[in-house]
Amino acid sequence: MSDASDLAKALQGAGIDTLAVRAGQVRSAEGEHSEALYLTSSYVFASAAEAAARFSGDEPGNVYSRYTNPTVRTLEQRIAAMEGTESAVATASGMAAILSTCMALLQAGDHIVCSRSVFGTTTVLFNKYLARFGVQTSFVDATDFEGWQAAMTAKTKLVFVETPSNPLCDVVDIERLADITHRAGALLVVDNCFCTPALQKPIDFGADLIVHSATKYIDGQGRCLGGLVAGANKYIDEVLGFIRSSGPTMSAFNAWVFLKGLETLRLRMDAHSTNALALAHWLQSQPQVSKVYYAGLPNHPGHALAAKQQRGFGGVLSFEVVGGREQAWQTIDATQILSLTANLGDAKTTIVHPATTTHGRLSAEQKVEAGITENLIRIAVGLEDIDDIQKDIAGGLSSLS
Ligand SMILES: *Cc1c(COP(=O)(O)O)cnc(C)c1O
Repeated sequence: MSDASDLAKALQGAGIDTLAVRAGQVRSAEGEHSEALYLTSSYVFASAAEAAARFSGDEPGNVYSRYTNPTVRTLEQRIAAMEGTESAVATASGMAAILSTCMALLQAGDHIVCSRSVFGTTTVLFNKYLARFGVQTSFVDATDFEGWQAAMTAKTKLVFVETPSNPLCDVVDIERLADITHRAGALLVVDNCFCTPALQKPIDFGADLIVHSATKYIDGQGRCLGGLVAGANKYIDEVLGFIRSSGPTMSAFNAWVFLKGLETLRLRMDAHSTNALALAHWLQSQPQVSKVYYAGLPNHPGHALAAKQQRGFGGVLSFEVVGGREQAWQTIDATQILSLTANLGDAKTTIVHPATTTHGRLSAEQKVEAGITENLIRIAVGLEDIDDIQKDIAGGLSSLS
C-alpha cells in the first residue's frame, strides 16, 4: 500500500467496521503499524519554491498545524469514510464544529430553523451570539413537521436537528426533514453525536452536513474534547477556510485519541445499546418508575422510525420516578457506582437530573414544553455489567417506597 489514494481505492465499498480501523492511514517511512502522532506546529520545505507553492495552495502538503496535520487528516478522512461524505474537518470541540459550520455558510440576514430539543449550548450559541451578527433562529418541536414547514422563510439557509433528542429520545425522520429543507433552498445539518456513524448515517437520508461532538462516543472514554464536520467538498472547504482563519483547530494528540476510539466504536455502540435496552425494560417493570423514554422500547412513539433509520437505539435513556424533584434527587443520591455528571458517551454510566442541570436554564414554561419534568432522570448507560447498573439504581428506587 503506497499512498492514500491506493488505500482509498482498496477500501471502496468496505464495511463501516473496516473503515473505522483502516481508513485514512498513511504510514511514514518508519512503517509504523499504529497511526503516527505528529506533534508539530509547522513543517519544513525542501526549497523556497516548494514553500511558495504550498502557501499558495498550488501544491498540496503540510504548511502549519492550524489547518494541516497528518494525524488530524487521518481522523478527518476516517470520519468522512464512515459517514459516507466526500470529506470532513476536525475542530477543537463539538461547539467549535457547530460554530465553524455557521460562520462558514451563513451571513447577516440569514435564518436558521432548529429543533427545540438540541444540546443547550447550541441554543445559547444561536440565540445569544449568532443573533448579534444578524443571524436569527426559529425553534420548532422536533417531530412537528407542520411546524418545520411553517418556520421556513425565504431567508432560511440552515436547518439544524439532533436525532435522537436529549433527553427524551424523540426520533426525527431525516429523509422527510431533508425534503422540506431542500424545497426551501436550505441545507440540512444533523448533529449525529448520540448515534455516531456506527448507528446512523444521515447522509443516506439526504442530510447535507453532519456535525459531531467527538468528546462523547467517538472518544468513548471521557478523555478529550473534539468536534467534526462532514459533508461535500464544497461545504467542507468553506468550513476549513473559516478554521484556518480563526483557529478552533483540533490538537493532533486529541485526533490520535479519537482514532483509537473509532477502532472500537461499533463494538462499544452495540454494547451501550444492549445495556440501555436491558435497563429500559427493567426500569419499566419497577413500581417506583412511572415512565421510561427509550426508542428501543416498542411503546416509544419513535420506535418504528428509529428501527428503520438507525442501526441501534443508542446508550441514552430517561425515566420518571413516582413523585417529584425530591424523589428524583433521592434516587440519584442513593446510587453508589454511577457517576453523577452531565457528560455522556463514556464507558462509565452517568446519571443526571435534567431539570436542575442540563436544562436548568430553561424557564418553567420551556421545561413543560420540552417535557423536562421534575421527576425525570437521564442515564447515559455505560459498559459496566448490566446487573450492577440495575442494582445501583434499585438501591435508589427502593429508598422511595
Ligand atoms: C456535547 C454535545 C455537543 C457539544 O460538544 P462539545 O464537545 O462539548 O463542545 C453538541 N451536541 C451534542 C448533541 C452534544 O451532546
